[in-house]
Amino acid sequence: MNIILMGLPGAGKGTQASEIVKKFPIPHISTGDMFRKAIKDETDLGKEAKSYMDRGELVPDEVTVGIVKDRISEDDAKKGFLLDGFPRTIEQAKALSEIMQELDRTIDAVINIEVPEEELMNRLTGRRICEKCGTTYHLVFNPPKVDGICDIDGGKLYQREDDNPETVANRLNVNVKQSKPILEYYDNENVLKNIDGSKDIKEVTSDVIEILENLK
Ligand code: ADP
Ligand code: AMP
Repeated sequence: MNIILMGLPGAGKGTQASEIVKKFPIPHISTGDMFRKAIKDETDLGKEAKSYMDRGELVPDEVTVGIVKDRISEDDAKKGFLLDGFPRTIEQAKALSEIMQELDRTIDAVINIEVPEEELMNRLTGRRICEKCGTTYHLVFNPPKVDGICDIDGGKLYQREDDNPETVANRLNVNVKQSKPILEYYDNENVLKNIDGSKDIKEVTSDVIEILENLK
């Protein structure tokens, strides 16, 4: 099963991805997570990506396509993958189609989580993440039991550097512009599934799972 999760920043891709991989044994491949790991490890990729991420801009296509191509060619992704945050430009979408053709595989579904733009600022500025296990919380919509502490492993919760109001505003601008042609592209390929991402987290999860169950 080769799946793409689409949606503007804050739509709930990461939140839903963690639920999906509990049910379907495919790796969750988030380009944002890959860049953040590279920044933490202080690699050349990390240094390059950071300058774009700090401003809420997209990392150049050549760089991003390269890391995705390598990642989906790894052994654990041979049985399928769940892409989160990629493609983010029409060029990336076309490059992905070429990679899939080379690998003799196809994209089975593109699940687009739709949330009104005005809700996304609140979602992103209130997002908090466990420094140990990466579980995502929200100060209001999905708070931890104890303030600032992960329910699962007691890890401290932190806020992403790019989740400040100025950078969020630019990220939303950039992504709104880029996403329309990508959605049209996948709609033409008959793989696009739009879902209402403004419902409760659990309701969105059951809508996504239902789509995936029907693909099997
Ligand atoms: P993305 O990966 O698409 O950027 P996240 O999954 O990190 O988005 O979610 C962004 C924020 O919104 C997080 O703080 C998360 O807890 C919260 N969130 C996710 N889904 C919902 C939902 N359906 N309703 C309310 N808040 C949500
Ligand atoms: P995310 O974790 O998906 O919100 O992504 C965080 C940041 O990583 C984005 O604002 C971009 O700077 C960068 N990024 C993630 N995925 C991509 C992509 N597919 N193309 C370009 N930049 C990306």
